[in-house]
Amino acid sequence: MTQIRRSKREHCPQCDSVAMLNYVHVSPGEDAEVFAECSECGAFVARYTLRSYTCDDPYRSYLRHMRTRGHDSGALARKSAEQFASKLWDDYAEVKQLVAEDEEARHLEDLLGETP
Ligand SMILES: [Zn+2]
Repeated sequence: MTQIRRSKREHCPQCDSVAMLNYVHVSPGEDAEVFAECSECGAFVARYTLRSYTCDDPYRSYLRHMRTRGHDSGALARKSAEQFASKLWDDYAEVKQLVAEDEEARHLEDLLGETP
């Protein structure tokens, strides 16, 4: 079965704005949560539970991730970090292109329900 990749921006359910404030909540022993709030009207938009996090420096994120799992060092780790960063930037570009060309119109909950 072919899975179609779809992308959309988060929209405010009250005013349809796509401008969001993200509040990150970290509790010991629990998955971190992000509460999205509309920056235009202040409405609650969504809560995300994080499984992983990548910052604007993907090498740092990758190395931190590997430290917690244990990983080969040296050239292999460097190559893996480069592949991780390359995939991040490719995925980011694809998401933005999908939104620009044909943004998903369905509610995000419906999209997430499609994922096996
Ligand atoms: Zn709003």
